[in-house]
Amino acid sequence: MSGSERALYEQVILDHNKNPRNFREIAEPDRELKGYNPLCGDQFTIYVKFDGDVIADVAFKGSGCAISKSSASVMTTELKGKTRAEALEIFNRFHHMITSAPDAPMDEDALGKLRVFSGVREFPVRIKCATLAWHAMAAALENKQGQISTES
Ligand code: ZN
Repeated sequence: MSGSERALYEQVILDHNKNPRNFREIAEPDRELKGYNPLCGDQFTIYVKFDGDVIADVAFKGSGCAISKSSASVMTTELKGKTRAEALEIFNRFHHMITSAPDAPMDEDALGKLRVFSGVREFPVRIKCATLAWHAMAAALENKQGQISTES
């Protein structure tokens, strides 16, 4: 990653942390999942509304570090309008990128905006921050309810 790319990615993360998208509750959601990362203290609730197989609306509330909050925010913008299968594929892509070696090649086109979190690979302690909301979302897509923890 070049220095200018890194600076651009940091800008996107800071922007989503400061002005998180879809940062609200959804009334009568079809799924409501709490995600908790005890290592950092990140705690978010993910709300999902389906229209058949499509994610009609997805939103989140809670608090956490800049990485966890911006990751949840970007996630909501990427998954809205997607089918369950598409969303799980995006989750897998993101998870694979973020848990791969810092110098591993990425499919940049397939990842799109999710690339901004590729720098997290260099900071293993931050990986659970970046994936917290995604794990909660994946659990929601698998029709689970309740709470997930990164330590379980
Ligand atoms: Zn965190």
